[in-house]
Amino acid sequence: MTAVAAYAASAAKAPLERTTIERRAVREFDVLIDIKFAGICHSDIHQVREGWGEAVFPMVPGHEIAGVVSEVGPGVTKYKVGDRVGVGCLVDSCRECENCKAGLEQYCTGGMVPTYNALDKDGEPTYGGYAEKIVVDENYVVRIPDGLSLDVAAPLLCAGITTYSPLRHWNAGPGKKVAVVGMGGLGHMGVQLAHALGAEVTVLSQSLRKQDDGLKLGADHYYATSDPKTFQELSGTFDLILSTVSAPLGLDSYLSLLKTDGALVNVGAPEEPVSLNLFSLLAGRKTLAGSGIGGIRETQEMLDFCAEHGIGAEIELITASEINEAYERVLSSDVRYRFVIDAATI
Ligand code: NAP
Ligand code: ZN
Ligand code: ZN
Repeated sequence: MTAVAAYAASAAKAPLERTTIERRAVREFDVLIDIKFAGICHSDIHQVREGWGEAVFPMVPGHEIAGVVSEVGPGVTKYKVGDRVGVGCLVDSCRECENCKAGLEQYCTGGMVPTYNALDKDGEPTYGGYAEKIVVDENYVVRIPDGLSLDVAAPLLCAGITTYSPLRHWNAGPGKKVAVVGMGGLGHMGVQLAHALGAEVTVLSQSLRKQDDGLKLGADHYYATSDPKTFQELSGTFDLILSTVSAPLGLDSYLSLLKTDGALVNVGAPEEPVSLNLFSLLAGRKTLAGSGIGGIRETQEMLDFCAEHGIGAEIELITASEINEAYERVLSSDVRYRFVIDAATI
């Protein structure tokens, strides 16, 4: 066991404070990673405040981790000391079920192990990336390509893969009209990725405050959803709508923006249920779907795609002592577009 400095919440809704946690000794197939940067995902806030239900405390959030390998177990073949690597939302899974075998570890039917707020296979709690170091089995570690700086790569480990996976699955590409709802951490990655995949991209944001940024990141159009005219003008327009909104959304009005056979894919994880008028789906044979993060293989594919296309997150680098303040800004949609913690300040 190694004592490691970290930022943790001691109980639901408690502020995050500096503390010390234990990381397990490096096992045969483990990689010890010196964390350099950790992104703040809205999911960290949902969980630390128990918005999704009962949680495990103390909690060290953080599942957007970028760092450098500093030790490897004797059986490790994929990584060596000095390699630039990332860890996302899961650190283990059953490895045997149909989904694990298909590279869809995030949907492991045997139970995947989330990076934090969970118990590992050995019964010990998992602690996330707001820490100096982490120990992870090499199969749940990805390589950060040389072309990507670690700070702008960190948010790709959740925000990047969570938007890349559905965009690929629902064939965002040339000739497709794609709308991204919400210009936050996930949304601003969705815009860049959908554009790089060749789709015509529209941002649907609450206001036009972030319009210039959206257009710079690759959006072709930008609309405010607070303006009722938006819904009239864009009726029946999109092949695919990707909603990244962290609060309950009026799905019926967004479904009306789809073409016949279009799909609204939701990745937002609000704390309250939403309601739906099923007629919104019948008229136009529409699909309402969801998508959760992505598997390890696809996460690597996404990182390589980002390096190839020069895509990274737009970040605001903060010290660890600014985490609580950053949470408040995320909650008021005042993030441009991902807070990233400089782990050297933990
Ligand atoms: P974020 O940075 O806070 O972005 C969310 C955006 O949603 C905001 O920037 C805002 O965009 C919009 N929004 C917020 N409140 C709204 C409201 N009341 N009505 C309409 N729009 C609103 O959060 P994030 O880190 O991108 O995460 C977004 C959601 O995805 C969270 O619920 C998170 O837990 C979830 N998530 C899911 C997965 C998955 O696997 N499916 C993975 C990661 C995160 P505008 O200012 O542009 O309107
Ligand atoms: Zn996340
Ligand atoms: Zn499995």
